[in-house]
Amino acid sequence: MAAEFGYAGKILRVDLSSASMSDVPTSDYADRFIGGRGIAAKIYWDEVPREANAFDPENRLIFMTGPLAGYPGIAGSRSLICGKAAFTDPGKFYYGTMGGSWGAHLKFAGYDGVVVYGKSEKPVYILIQDGTAELRDASALWGKGAIEARDLLKGELGKSAKVLTTGPAGENMVTFATTLAEEDSAAQGAAIMGSKKLKAVVVSGKSSRLPPANPEKLAELQKYLKGVGYGSAPWSERRDRPLFVEKKQICYGCVKGCDRVTLETADGIKTKIVCAAQGVYRAANTYYKEQTEVPFHATMLCHNYGLEARTLGAIMSWLMAGYKAGYLTEESTELPLSQYGSWEFFETLVKKISLREGFGDILSQGLHRTIDAVGGKAKELIPVYLDDKGQSMGFGPREYNITGLFSATQARVGRITNEISAASGWWAKWHNGEEGSGAYLSYDMLRELGRRFWGSELTFDFSTYEGKAIAAKNLQDKLYATECLILCAFFYPLRYCDYTETHEGDPTIESKLYSAVTGNETDEEELNRIGERVFNLERAILAREDPAGKKVDAIPEWNYTVPVEFDHHVPGLIVPGKDGEPITKKGNVVDREKFAQMLSEYYEVRGWDKSGLQTKQKLVDLDLADIAEGLAKRGLIAETAALGVEYSLEAAKL
Ligand code: SF4
Repeated sequence: MAAEFGYAGKILRVDLSSASMSDVPTSDYADRFIGGRGIAAKIYWDEVPREANAFDPENRLIFMTGPLAGYPGIAGSRSLICGKAAFTDPGKFYYGTMGGSWGAHLKFAGYDGVVVYGKSEKPVYILIQDGTAELRDASALWGKGAIEARDLLKGELGKSAKVLTTGPAGENMVTFATTLAEEDSAAQGAAIMGSKKLKAVVVSGKSSRLPPANPEKLAELQKYLKGVGYGSAPWSERRDRPLFVEKKQICYGCVKGCDRVTLETADGIKTKIVCAAQGVYRAANTYYKEQTEVPFHATMLCHNYGLEARTLGAIMSWLMAGYKAGYLTEESTELPLSQYGSWEFFETLVKKISLREGFGDILSQGLHRTIDAVGGKAKELIPVYLDDKGQSMGFGPREYNITGLFSATQARVGRITNEISAASGWWAKWHNGEEGSGAYLSYDMLRELGRRFWGSELTFDFSTYEGKAIAAKNLQDKLYATECLILCAFFYPLRYCDYTETHEGDPTIESKLYSAVTGNETDEEELNRIGERVFNLERAILAREDPAGKKVDAIPEWNYTVPVEFDHHVPGLIVPGKDGEPITKKGNVVDREKFAQMLSEYYEVRGWDKSGLQTKQKLVDLDLADIAEGLAKRGLIAETAALGVEYSLEAAKL
């Protein structure tokens, strides 16, 4: 099938070692994997050797859009960056998505994606204009901050040029370095850019809209989306920001925007503040002094240097805990720890990490590696629990048991965990009598949401481990499909609707949008099936890369041993229990035996064997015979699926 509607039609391949470029048709991938996460994972499976390290020329840096990018009124213009990331040893498959407008403009410039490999000898940037691409010298930009580099490139190429770049942290291969694109959108992957000496990818094209296959149907859906509204995340509090002019900032093609805003100082400096960035610096600055511009400028500094805020937040908390305990000193770290929360502290920390100077070089590898390198009491002083990327974990399985299945089986869990925590947060609002204060869900509505969307009325009953395996599978399949389309996580799945009596959303909307834009008539079930295919493809990648020689599905040991006392997103640690009765999770740990049983049920509903190996039959059924063949060569395929619930405590141990 030619990928006609919804696609620019080609993917750019750039070999930086030989400074050569070529195009491949998007249709080589689009039939089975749609776009975004699916196509990126297939390219990764085909091209990134298991043995390659993150900074080897063989690693790929893959930029992808989805078929809905560039269409207005959908909130489907996000883009995705994928490659082998450097925050674990050995490196592992990872991806991140970003909003803004860069992805839509990549498509307007004539490409659905860009695959970069090899390594350039000197700094370069890729310029894609109206269907053609070239490599240009970026020596004059190397060493510059991302904001400065973006401004310089726009100055040279004109305002229509849309820039994705990185700052010194990316150039210096700080493991948690981020890119910076239009509207200050960011995603991880910049360390790979640095390793390839790639400073930027600039896209410029005529903003001619791509025609949808079914304009009438698409217009109908756009109208519907405009009217439905949705529940913003219950933890995204509106803050009083008297020091700034605050303006809503909407990504290209969004329906009506969200909490994404820009703040502007009195002297006209502005940046985007949303999610991690706004929380991390405010928390630290509040520790020092209320209401200053420090969090704002700290955010800009991180954008400019290219540092990811959540990882930096975990590092800052650890530094402060170590300093208070007398374990870390200003002398040993060469950081002004006594000035925590001040501008001086932020600036010194950000620069030392980004330029990898002194103790900053150790911190540049992420907190999980820092505590190993420092040794001694370093581990005991971690005030937050970390995942394998060195980021703090929230909404974990001690509070919401189902999220343990996501942590155990996925490369990245933020988005899917939010599906559980957002709905539970809306229930908490209802339980606390906050109806009328935005989105809320009674337990009856929550149960119905679980049934209609996730196939289990027990999805949100956290008094039991029952009913979670099937819900986890359905959640994963739908969200993987959603990330092939790269629909915005703030809007999709459309599980909540502000303005209808029942607040019921529509689980079929993604498939309707995909059908209207591409003309590939696909219903909800078929789209979820594609999500299942992509999930299994990603599973194969994780199995191939796991240092244990097969995919080990485990959650960190502390979930079983350390009682949860606090989660600032779950007030009082109150969650819905049986029939919606509120229960507290304070002091809770994950039940090892029940978790193991839940994992075994999950393997069964996935059609895998009892140890979590994918079966040949399942992969063939999912049109993944080629992936089954690749796994078979490594002895990573099973002949028989698990039947009946068998489980092993070993399987649930880290
Ligand atoms: S809901 Fe927010 S983050 Fe999502 S596309 Fe719209 S503006 Fe961007």
